[in-house]
Amino acid sequence: MGVPDWMRMTAAVLERDRDRLNRLDADIGDGDHGANMARGFAAVVARMDGAPEDHPATELRAVGMTLLSTVGGAAGPLYGSFFIGMATALREAGPEPELGAPEWAAALSAAVAGVQRRGRAEPGDKTMVDALVPAREALDAAAADGASLADGLRAAAEAAERGALETIPLVARKGRASYLGERSAGHLDPGAASSALLLRAAAEAWGE
Ligand code: ADP
Ligand code: MG
Ligand code: MG
Repeated sequence: MGVPDWMRMTAAVLERDRDRLNRLDADIGDGDHGANMARGFAAVVARMDGAPEDHPATELRAVGMTLLSTVGGAAGPLYGSFFIGMATALREAGPEPELGAPEWAAALSAAVAGVQRRGRAEPGDKTMVDALVPAREALDAAAADGASLADGLRAAAEAAERGALETIPLVARKGRASYLGERSAGHLDPGAASSALLLRAAAEAWGE
């Protein structure tokens, strides 16, 4: 299993959940998050189809660049930074990195750092960071315990799903939803929901 499988699974779930993500974004934003994400990942898959297998860092960097140029809005640069951060970390893992739990944990850390450097959101601000930070912590803990990549990614996906649900009562402090102030409370953040889908797809792509 590799990056192309992960991207194909992500594109499929984003297509499936496009309307749900649009509706979540309509509640506290402008209603385009599902369309933005489905368009971006369809472009990622179109670019990967037929391409020869490459170093995962090269593949992830191409994903990031494609998302930067196709997703638009707030999420495009943020997910672009996610994948470019991941790519940079994996580049340091050598010419033919074995993608195990420790390598994935280092890559996810760099990815989340990239998102936070770009968007300046902290946990509790009601953004994708509320799904990504718990996922990073869960994968770090699993890797430190010597867990398999499949188990680590399952723990990360569960943590992301929990973190996304925990955005419901929060008041948004970043992005478009923050314009609503207190009225943003009571709604699930769409970017946290899409981050949970991304990590669930990783758990499925690398699951045994
Ligand atoms: P736009 O708001 O420009 O229409 P999207 O709807 O595609 O963009 O994405 C909205 C999502 O982006 C939000 O649900 C939130 O999770 C995420 N987001 C917005 N601003 C930030 C930020 N500064 N840091 C992290 N995530 C953010
Ligand atoms: Mg939007
Ligand atoms: Mg928009």
